[in-house]
Amino acid sequence: MAKAKTYYFCQECGYQSSNWLGRCPECGKFGTFAEEVVKATSSPAIKHSGKQAFSTPKKIQDVTYGETKRIPTHCGEFDRVLGGGIVPGSLLLLGGEPGIGKSTLLLQTALAIRDRKLLYVSGEESEQQIKMRADRIGEPQADLYVVSETVTQRIFEHVEAVQPDLLIVDSIQTISTEDIDSPSGSVSQIRQCTSEFQHYAKTTGVPVLLIGHITKDGTLAGPKVMEHIVDAVLQFEGDRNYGYRILRALKNRFGSTAEIGIFEMLGTGLREVPNPSEFLLSQRDETLSGAAVAATVEGARPMFIEVQSLVSSAVYGTPQRNANGFDMRRLSMLLAVLEKRCGFKLGAKDVFLNIAGGLRVNDPAIDLAVACSVLSSNVDIAISPRICFAAELGLSGEVRPVSRVEQRIAEADRLGFEKIFISKYNERSLDRRRYNIEIVAVSVIEEAFRALFA
Ligand SMILES: [Zn+2]
Repeated sequence: MAKAKTYYFCQECGYQSSNWLGRCPECGKFGTFAEEVVKATSSPAIKHSGKQAFSTPKKIQDVTYGETKRIPTHCGEFDRVLGGGIVPGSLLLLGGEPGIGKSTLLLQTALAIRDRKLLYVSGEESEQQIKMRADRIGEPQADLYVVSETVTQRIFEHVEAVQPDLLIVDSIQTISTEDIDSPSGSVSQIRQCTSEFQHYAKTTGVPVLLIGHITKDGTLAGPKVMEHIVDAVLQFEGDRNYGYRILRALKNRFGSTAEIGIFEMLGTGLREVPNPSEFLLSQRDETLSGAAVAATVEGARPMFIEVQSLVSSAVYGTPQRNANGFDMRRLSMLLAVLEKRCGFKLGAKDVFLNIAGGLRVNDPAIDLAVACSVLSSNVDIAISPRICFAAELGLSGEVRPVSRVEQRIAEADRLGFEKIFISKYNERSLDRRRYNIEIVAVSVIEEAFRALFA
Protein backbone atom coordinates (compact mmCIF):
# COMPACT_ATOMS: atom_id res chain seq x y z
CA MET A 1 0.00 0.00 0.00
CA ALA A 2 1.30 3.38 -0.93
CA LYS A 3 2.17 5.76 1.85
CA ALA A 4 0.30 9.04 2.02
CA LYS A 5 2.31 12.20 2.56
CA THR A 6 1.22 15.74 3.14
CA TYR A 7 2.77 18.60 1.25
CA TYR A 8 2.01 22.27 1.02
CA PHE A 9 1.69 23.85 -2.38
CA CYS A 10 1.67 27.50 -3.32
CA GLN A 11 -1.62 27.88 -5.17
CA GLU A 12 -0.14 30.76 -7.09
CA CYS A 13 2.98 29.23 -8.63
CA GLY A 14 2.99 25.59 -7.55
CA TYR A 15 5.98 25.77 -5.18
CA GLN A 16 6.12 22.62 -3.03
CA SER A 17 7.12 22.60 0.62
CA SER A 18 6.98 20.03 3.41
CA ASN A 19 5.68 22.58 5.87
CA TRP A 20 3.32 25.51 5.74
CA LEU A 21 4.84 28.85 4.79
CA GLY A 22 3.36 32.30 5.19
CA ARG A 23 5.19 33.71 2.22
CA CYS A 24 6.13 31.80 -0.90
CA PRO A 25 9.90 31.86 -1.53
CA GLU A 26 9.28 31.32 -5.26
CA CYS A 27 6.73 33.97 -6.21
CA GLY A 28 6.76 36.10 -3.06
CA LYS A 29 2.98 35.99 -2.49
CA PHE A 30 1.54 35.80 1.03
CA GLY A 31 -0.94 33.25 2.34
CA THR A 32 -1.03 31.15 -0.82
CA PHE A 33 -0.08 27.78 0.69
CA ALA A 34 -2.60 24.96 0.94
CA GLU A 35 -2.26 21.44 2.21
CA GLU A 36 -2.50 18.57 -0.27
CA VAL A 37 -2.12 14.85 0.38
CA VAL A 38 0.17 13.06 -2.04
CA LYS A 39 0.30 9.28 -2.11
CA ALA A 40 3.76 8.05 -2.98
CA THR A 41 3.73 5.19 -5.45
CA SER A 42 6.47 2.79 -6.33
CA SER A 43 5.31 1.92 -9.83
CA PRO A 44 4.96 4.36 -12.73
CA ALA A 45 1.38 5.45 -13.27
CA ILE A 46 1.32 4.90 -16.99
CA LYS A 47 1.79 1.71 -18.86
CA HIS A 48 1.35 1.50 -22.57
CA SER A 49 2.78 -1.26 -24.63
CA GLY A 50 0.99 -0.70 -27.92
CA LYS A 51 3.24 1.91 -29.50
CA GLN A 52 6.95 1.64 -30.09
CA ALA A 53 9.25 3.85 -28.14
CA PHE A 54 9.16 7.21 -29.93
CA SER A 55 12.66 8.37 -29.10
CA THR A 56 15.85 6.36 -29.32
CA PRO A 57 19.39 7.72 -29.19
CA LYS A 58 20.73 8.62 -32.63
CA LYS A 59 24.16 9.58 -33.92
CA ILE A 60 24.18 13.34 -34.31
CA GLN A 61 24.98 12.98 -38.03
CA ASP A 62 21.78 10.98 -38.44
CA VAL A 63 19.57 13.54 -36.74
CA THR A 64 17.48 15.36 -39.31
CA TYR A 65 15.36 18.41 -38.86
CA GLY A 66 12.96 20.57 -40.79
CA GLU A 67 11.00 17.59 -41.94
CA THR A 68 9.05 16.79 -38.80
CA LYS A 69 5.73 15.58 -40.11
CA ARG A 70 3.26 17.88 -38.46
CA ILE A 71 -0.40 16.99 -38.30
CA PRO A 72 -2.30 19.69 -40.21
CA THR A 73 -5.45 20.74 -38.37
CA HIS A 74 -7.17 21.98 -41.57
CA CYS A 75 -7.96 25.15 -39.69
CA GLY A 76 -5.82 27.87 -41.24
CA GLU A 77 -5.88 30.14 -38.22
CA PHE A 78 -5.01 27.33 -35.79
CA ASP A 79 -2.16 26.07 -38.00
CA ARG A 80 -0.85 29.62 -38.32
CA VAL A 81 -0.51 29.97 -34.54
CA LEU A 82 1.03 26.51 -34.13
CA GLY A 83 3.53 27.23 -36.88
CA GLY A 84 2.07 24.79 -39.40
CA GLY A 85 0.27 21.99 -37.59
CA ILE A 86 0.67 19.81 -34.52
CA VAL A 87 4.15 18.39 -33.88
CA PRO A 88 4.23 14.65 -33.04
CA GLY A 89 4.99 13.95 -29.40
CA SER A 90 4.19 17.49 -28.32
CA LEU A 91 2.13 18.51 -25.32
CA LEU A 92 -0.01 21.58 -25.91
CA LEU A 93 -2.03 23.63 -23.48
CA LEU A 94 -4.98 25.70 -24.61
CA GLY A 95 -5.81 28.20 -21.86
CA GLY A 96 -8.54 30.74 -21.49
CA GLU A 97 -11.40 31.91 -19.33
CA PRO A 98 -14.34 29.55 -18.85
CA GLY A 99 -17.02 29.99 -21.50
CA ILE A 100 -14.77 31.67 -24.04
CA GLY A 101 -15.04 28.73 -26.47
CA LYS A 102 -11.97 26.54 -25.84
CA SER A 103 -13.94 23.29 -26.04
CA THR A 104 -15.65 24.46 -29.23
CA LEU A 105 -12.29 25.32 -30.79
CA LEU A 106 -10.77 21.93 -30.01
CA LEU A 107 -13.88 19.93 -30.87
CA GLN A 108 -14.12 21.79 -34.15
CA THR A 109 -10.44 21.11 -34.78
CA ALA A 110 -10.94 17.45 -33.92
CA LEU A 111 -13.82 17.26 -36.41
CA ALA A 112 -11.78 18.88 -39.17
CA ILE A 113 -8.60 16.78 -38.92
CA ARG A 114 -8.50 14.18 -41.70
CA ASP A 115 -7.32 10.58 -41.97
CA ARG A 116 -6.39 10.23 -38.31
CA LYS A 117 -7.71 8.49 -35.27
CA LEU A 118 -8.57 10.91 -32.50
CA LEU A 119 -9.60 10.46 -28.90
CA TYR A 120 -11.49 13.30 -27.24
CA VAL A 121 -11.64 12.87 -23.46
CA SER A 122 -13.97 15.16 -21.58
CA GLY A 123 -14.23 15.55 -17.85
CA GLU A 124 -16.64 18.43 -18.39
CA GLU A 125 -19.35 16.92 -20.55
CA SER A 126 -21.05 13.60 -21.23
CA GLU A 127 -20.64 11.82 -24.57
CA GLN A 128 -24.21 12.90 -25.46
CA GLN A 129 -23.43 16.56 -24.77
CA ILE A 130 -20.29 16.36 -26.89
CA LYS A 131 -22.26 14.73 -29.70
CA MET A 132 -24.93 17.45 -29.55
CA ARG A 133 -22.28 20.14 -29.80
CA ALA A 134 -20.47 18.32 -32.58
CA ASP A 135 -23.71 18.05 -34.56
CA ARG A 136 -24.05 21.83 -34.53
CA ILE A 137 -20.49 22.27 -35.79
CA GLY A 138 -20.16 19.72 -38.55
CA GLU A 139 -19.34 16.24 -39.73
CA PRO A 140 -16.23 14.45 -38.48
CA GLN A 141 -13.56 14.03 -41.16
CA ALA A 142 -11.64 11.44 -39.17
CA ASP A 143 -12.19 8.54 -36.76
CA LEU A 144 -13.19 10.57 -33.75
CA TYR A 145 -13.77 8.74 -30.49
CA VAL A 146 -15.27 10.50 -27.49
CA VAL A 147 -15.33 9.44 -23.87
CA SER A 148 -16.35 11.09 -20.62
CA GLU A 149 -13.64 10.29 -18.06
CA THR A 150 -11.77 12.04 -15.27
CA VAL A 151 -9.16 9.62 -13.93
CA THR A 152 -5.86 9.37 -15.79
CA GLN A 153 -5.52 5.63 -15.12
CA ARG A 154 -8.86 5.05 -16.92
CA ILE A 155 -7.94 7.51 -19.66
CA PHE A 156 -4.77 5.58 -20.45
CA GLU A 157 -6.82 2.38 -20.60
CA HIS A 158 -9.02 4.04 -23.23
CA VAL A 159 -5.90 5.24 -25.03
CA GLU A 160 -4.58 1.69 -24.99
CA ALA A 161 -7.82 0.44 -26.55
CA VAL A 162 -8.26 3.18 -29.17
CA GLN A 163 -4.57 3.80 -30.05
CA PRO A 164 -5.24 7.38 -31.20
CA ASP A 165 -2.99 9.60 -33.32
CA LEU A 166 -4.01 12.59 -31.25
CA LEU A 167 -5.37 12.87 -27.72
CA ILE A 168 -7.49 15.81 -26.56
CA VAL A 169 -8.28 16.31 -22.86
CA ASP A 170 -10.96 18.77 -21.71
CA SER A 171 -10.04 20.03 -19.15
CA ILE A 172 -6.96 19.40 -17.02
CA GLN A 173 -8.74 20.87 -13.97
CA THR A 174 -11.33 18.05 -14.01
CA ILE A 175 -8.75 15.27 -14.36
CA SER A 176 -7.15 13.48 -11.42
CA THR A 177 -4.74 10.65 -10.83
CA GLU A 178 -5.31 7.92 -8.24
CA ASP A 179 -1.78 8.48 -6.98
CA ILE A 180 -2.73 11.71 -5.30
CA ASP A 181 -5.53 12.15 -2.79
CA SER A 182 -6.12 15.85 -3.21
CA PRO A 183 -9.12 16.89 -5.33
CA SER A 184 -8.94 17.50 -9.07
CA GLY A 185 -7.91 21.03 -9.92
CA SER A 186 -5.43 21.26 -7.03
CA VAL A 187 -1.83 22.14 -7.81
CA SER A 188 -0.41 18.69 -7.07
CA GLN A 189 -3.09 16.99 -9.19
CA ILE A 190 -2.61 19.30 -12.14
CA ARG A 191 1.14 18.95 -12.01
CA GLN A 192 1.08 15.17 -11.73
CA CYS A 193 -1.57 14.68 -14.44
CA THR A 194 0.27 17.01 -16.81
CA SER A 195 3.47 15.06 -16.24
CA GLU A 196 1.68 11.81 -17.02
CA PHE A 197 0.36 13.22 -20.30
CA GLN A 198 3.81 14.57 -21.09
CA HIS A 199 5.34 11.16 -20.46
CA TYR A 200 2.73 9.58 -22.71
CA ALA A 201 3.32 12.10 -25.50
CA LYS A 202 7.11 11.82 -25.36
CA THR A 203 7.24 8.04 -25.25
CA THR A 204 4.64 7.35 -27.95
CA GLY A 205 4.91 10.37 -30.22
CA VAL A 206 1.18 10.97 -29.91
CA PRO A 207 0.52 14.68 -29.41
CA VAL A 208 -1.71 15.66 -26.51
CA LEU A 209 -3.86 18.79 -26.40
CA LEU A 210 -4.94 19.89 -22.94
CA ILE A 211 -7.53 22.50 -22.10
CA GLY A 212 -6.90 24.60 -19.00
CA HIS A 213 -9.17 27.20 -17.42
CA ILE A 214 -7.80 30.54 -16.34
CA THR A 215 -9.90 32.90 -14.30
CA LYS A 216 -9.81 36.62 -14.94
CA ASP A 217 -7.88 37.44 -11.77
CA GLY A 218 -5.52 34.54 -12.39
CA THR A 219 -6.34 32.79 -9.10
CA LEU A 220 -6.11 29.32 -10.58
CA ALA A 221 -2.53 28.11 -10.37
CA GLY A 222 -2.95 25.17 -12.69
CA PRO A 223 -1.97 26.71 -16.01
CA LYS A 224 1.02 28.45 -14.44
CA VAL A 225 2.31 25.18 -13.02
CA MET A 226 1.80 23.57 -16.41
CA GLU A 227 3.55 26.24 -18.45
CA HIS A 228 6.98 24.81 -17.66
CA ILE A 229 5.99 21.27 -18.56
CA VAL A 230 4.15 21.78 -21.84
CA ASP A 231 5.75 22.52 -25.22
CA ALA A 232 3.32 25.23 -26.21
CA VAL A 233 0.85 27.42 -24.38
CA LEU A 234 -1.94 28.78 -26.53
CA GLN A 235 -4.32 31.32 -25.16
CA PHE A 236 -7.83 31.79 -26.42
CA GLU A 237 -9.13 35.22 -25.56
CA GLY A 238 -11.78 37.74 -26.36
CA ASP A 239 -14.63 39.64 -24.85
CA ARG A 240 -17.59 37.39 -24.22
CA ASN A 241 -19.92 40.23 -25.24
CA TYR A 242 -18.40 40.27 -28.71
CA GLY A 243 -18.09 37.59 -31.33
CA TYR A 244 -14.36 37.89 -31.93
CA ARG A 245 -11.79 35.52 -30.49
CA ILE A 246 -8.03 35.66 -30.71
CA LEU A 247 -5.78 32.63 -30.45
CA ARG A 248 -2.26 33.52 -29.34
CA ALA A 249 0.81 31.45 -28.59
CA LEU A 250 2.34 32.56 -25.28
CA LYS A 251 5.02 29.88 -25.58
CA ASN A 252 5.87 27.73 -28.57
CA ARG A 253 8.84 25.40 -28.73
CA PHE A 254 8.11 24.62 -32.38
CA GLY A 255 7.31 28.01 -33.84
CA SER A 256 7.00 31.71 -33.30
CA THR A 257 4.86 33.38 -30.68
CA ALA A 258 4.17 36.39 -32.87
CA GLU A 259 1.34 34.95 -34.92
CA ILE A 260 -2.29 35.19 -33.89
CA GLY A 261 -5.39 33.46 -35.16
CA ILE A 262 -8.69 35.31 -35.39
CA PHE A 263 -12.11 33.70 -35.17
CA GLU A 264 -15.69 34.77 -35.02
CA MET A 265 -17.99 32.88 -32.67
CA LEU A 266 -21.21 31.82 -34.35
CA GLY A 267 -24.04 29.52 -33.28
CA THR A 268 -22.56 26.86 -35.51
CA GLY A 269 -19.06 27.12 -34.08
CA LEU A 270 -16.08 29.29 -34.87
CA ARG A 271 -15.53 30.90 -38.22
CA GLU A 272 -12.00 31.71 -39.31
CA VAL A 273 -11.33 35.35 -40.11
CA PRO A 274 -8.40 35.47 -42.55
CA ASN A 275 -8.85 39.17 -43.40
CA PRO A 276 -9.59 40.84 -40.08
CA SER A 277 -9.20 44.42 -41.32
CA GLU A 278 -12.01 44.32 -43.82
CA PHE A 279 -14.14 42.64 -41.27
CA LEU A 280 -13.49 45.01 -38.39
CA LEU A 281 -13.85 48.18 -40.41
CA SER A 282 -16.98 47.32 -42.31
CA GLN A 283 -19.35 48.63 -39.65
CA ARG A 284 -18.66 52.33 -39.96
CA ASP A 285 -20.02 54.68 -42.59
CA GLU A 286 -21.00 57.72 -40.53
CA THR A 287 -18.46 60.15 -39.19
CA LEU A 288 -18.57 60.42 -35.42
CA SER A 289 -16.14 62.17 -33.15
CA GLY A 290 -13.92 59.98 -31.00
CA ALA A 291 -13.24 57.29 -33.59
CA ALA A 292 -9.84 56.68 -35.16
CA VAL A 293 -8.46 53.75 -37.14
CA ALA A 294 -5.16 52.16 -36.14
CA ALA A 295 -3.03 50.36 -38.71
CA THR A 296 -1.64 47.63 -36.47
CA VAL A 297 0.31 44.49 -37.27
CA GLU A 298 -0.18 41.34 -35.25
CA GLY A 299 2.38 38.67 -36.03
CA ALA A 300 3.06 39.09 -39.73
CA ARG A 301 -0.44 40.23 -40.54
CA PRO A 302 -1.79 43.76 -40.78
CA MET A 303 -4.94 44.34 -38.78
CA PHE A 304 -6.84 47.59 -39.01
CA ILE A 305 -9.01 48.31 -36.03
CA GLU A 306 -11.12 51.15 -34.80
CA VAL A 307 -10.39 52.92 -31.53
CA GLN A 308 -13.33 54.69 -29.91
CA SER A 309 -13.09 57.28 -27.16
CA LEU A 310 -15.53 59.21 -25.10
CA VAL A 311 -14.22 62.24 -23.25
CA SER A 312 -16.66 64.17 -21.07
CA SER A 313 -16.56 66.43 -18.04
CA ALA A 314 -16.33 64.41 -14.84
CA VAL A 315 -19.72 64.39 -13.15
CA TYR A 316 -18.31 63.26 -9.83
CA GLY A 317 -15.19 64.52 -8.12
CA THR A 318 -12.77 61.88 -9.34
CA PRO A 319 -12.45 61.56 -13.11
CA GLN A 320 -13.13 58.06 -14.37
CA ARG A 321 -10.82 56.16 -16.66
CA ASN A 322 -11.87 53.01 -18.40
CA ALA A 323 -10.20 51.07 -21.20
CA ASN A 324 -11.60 48.06 -22.97
CA GLY A 325 -9.02 46.10 -24.95
CA PHE A 326 -6.21 48.54 -24.12
CA ASP A 327 -3.77 48.68 -21.24
CA MET A 328 -5.02 51.08 -18.54
CA ARG A 329 -1.52 52.19 -17.54
CA ARG A 330 -0.68 52.90 -21.16
CA LEU A 331 -3.86 54.99 -21.46
CA SER A 332 -2.99 56.95 -18.31
CA MET A 333 0.45 57.60 -19.74
CA LEU A 334 -0.93 58.80 -23.08
CA LEU A 335 -3.41 61.08 -21.32
CA ALA A 336 -0.61 62.52 -19.20
CA VAL A 337 1.43 63.18 -22.34
CA LEU A 338 -1.52 64.94 -24.03
CA GLU A 339 -2.09 66.99 -20.89
CA LYS A 340 1.49 67.94 -20.15
CA ARG A 341 3.02 68.38 -23.60
CA CYS A 342 0.07 69.56 -25.62
CA GLY A 343 -1.89 71.47 -23.01
CA PHE A 344 -5.16 69.59 -23.46
CA LYS A 345 -6.96 69.70 -20.13
CA LEU A 346 -7.96 66.10 -19.67
CA GLY A 347 -7.29 65.91 -15.94
CA ALA A 348 -10.84 66.82 -14.99
CA LYS A 349 -12.46 64.68 -17.69
CA ASP A 350 -13.86 61.18 -17.74
CA VAL A 351 -12.14 59.15 -20.45
CA PHE A 352 -13.55 55.91 -21.80
CA LEU A 353 -11.66 53.97 -24.42
CA ASN A 354 -12.85 51.02 -26.43
CA ILE A 355 -11.14 48.88 -29.04
CA ALA A 356 -13.81 47.84 -31.54
CA GLY A 357 -14.78 44.21 -31.40
CA GLY A 358 -13.36 43.73 -27.91
CA LEU A 359 -9.96 42.84 -29.32
CA ARG A 360 -6.80 43.26 -27.30
CA VAL A 361 -3.88 44.60 -29.28
CA ASN A 362 -0.21 44.43 -28.25
CA ASP A 363 1.18 46.51 -31.10
CA PRO A 364 2.51 49.86 -29.77
CA ALA A 365 1.69 51.43 -33.16
CA ILE A 366 -1.88 51.84 -31.90
CA ASP A 367 -0.76 54.78 -29.67
CA LEU A 368 -1.29 57.53 -32.22
CA ALA A 369 -4.80 56.33 -33.05
CA VAL A 370 -5.64 56.21 -29.34
CA ALA A 371 -4.32 59.74 -28.77
CA CYS A 372 -6.10 61.14 -31.83
CA SER A 373 -9.34 59.41 -30.91
CA VAL A 374 -9.21 60.99 -27.43
CA LEU A 375 -8.44 64.41 -28.94
CA SER A 376 -11.24 64.01 -31.47
CA SER A 377 -13.78 63.31 -28.75
CA ASN A 378 -12.40 66.14 -26.62
CA VAL A 379 -12.83 68.77 -29.34
CA ASP A 380 -15.90 66.98 -30.75
CA ILE A 381 -14.61 66.99 -34.32
CA ALA A 382 -14.80 63.76 -36.26
CA ILE A 383 -11.82 62.20 -38.01
CA SER A 384 -12.63 60.97 -41.50
CA PRO A 385 -13.03 57.17 -41.59
CA ARG A 386 -10.64 57.23 -44.57
CA ILE A 387 -7.72 58.26 -42.35
CA CYS A 388 -5.61 55.82 -40.38
CA PHE A 389 -2.66 55.98 -37.96
CA ALA A 390 0.48 53.96 -37.30
CA ALA A 391 2.92 55.33 -34.73
CA GLU A 392 4.00 55.02 -31.15
CA LEU A 393 3.93 57.98 -28.74
CA GLY A 394 6.87 58.88 -26.52
CA LEU A 395 6.75 60.54 -23.11
CA SER A 396 7.61 63.96 -24.51
CA GLY A 397 4.85 63.77 -27.10
CA GLU A 398 7.18 62.71 -29.90
CA VAL A 399 5.69 60.51 -32.58
CA ARG A 400 7.94 57.47 -32.77
CA PRO A 401 8.61 55.08 -35.65
CA VAL A 402 7.17 51.58 -35.77
CA SER A 403 8.20 48.36 -37.45
CA ARG A 404 6.85 47.14 -40.80
CA VAL A 405 5.67 50.59 -41.83
CA GLU A 406 5.71 49.71 -45.57
CA GLN A 407 3.42 46.80 -44.92
CA ARG A 408 0.99 49.00 -42.99
CA ILE A 409 0.95 51.63 -45.72
CA ALA A 410 0.48 49.06 -48.46
CA GLU A 411 -2.44 47.52 -46.59
CA ALA A 412 -4.01 50.94 -45.95
CA ASP A 413 -3.64 51.62 -49.67
CA ARG A 414 -5.27 48.32 -50.53
CA LEU A 415 -8.19 48.95 -48.17
CA GLY A 416 -8.84 52.31 -49.83
CA PHE A 417 -7.69 54.71 -47.12
CA GLU A 418 -6.90 58.23 -48.31
CA LYS A 419 -4.40 59.24 -45.64
CA ILE A 420 -2.08 57.55 -43.17
CA PHE A 421 -0.28 59.32 -40.30
CA ILE A 422 3.17 57.96 -39.52
CA SER A 423 6.30 59.12 -37.72
CA LYS A 424 8.80 61.40 -39.50
CA TYR A 425 11.50 58.89 -38.58
CA ASN A 426 9.68 56.21 -40.58
CA GLU A 427 9.49 58.45 -43.62
CA ARG A 428 13.18 58.50 -44.59
CA SER A 429 13.44 55.06 -46.08
CA LEU A 430 10.07 55.31 -47.75
CA ASP A 431 9.41 55.39 -51.48
CA ARG A 432 6.22 57.45 -51.68
CA ARG A 433 5.78 56.84 -55.40
CA ARG A 434 4.84 53.25 -54.69
CA TYR A 435 1.60 54.24 -52.98
CA ASN A 436 -1.54 56.12 -53.97
CA ILE A 437 -2.35 56.95 -50.38
CA GLU A 438 -1.29 60.31 -48.94
CA ILE A 439 1.39 59.82 -46.30
CA VAL A 440 1.43 62.40 -43.50
CA ALA A 441 4.68 62.23 -41.54
CA VAL A 442 4.66 64.00 -38.17
CA SER A 443 7.29 64.32 -35.45
CA VAL A 444 5.21 65.48 -32.47
CA ILE A 445 1.57 64.97 -31.47
CA GLU A 446 0.71 68.68 -31.88
CA GLU A 447 1.42 68.38 -35.61
CA ALA A 448 -1.08 65.57 -35.92
CA PHE A 449 -3.58 67.62 -33.91
CA ARG A 450 -3.18 70.67 -36.15
CA ALA A 451 -3.41 68.60 -39.32
CA LEU A 452 -6.63 66.96 -38.17
CA PHE A 453 -8.57 69.62 -36.31
CA ALA A 454 -7.14 73.06 -37.10
ZN1 LIG B 1 4.40 30.81 -5.05
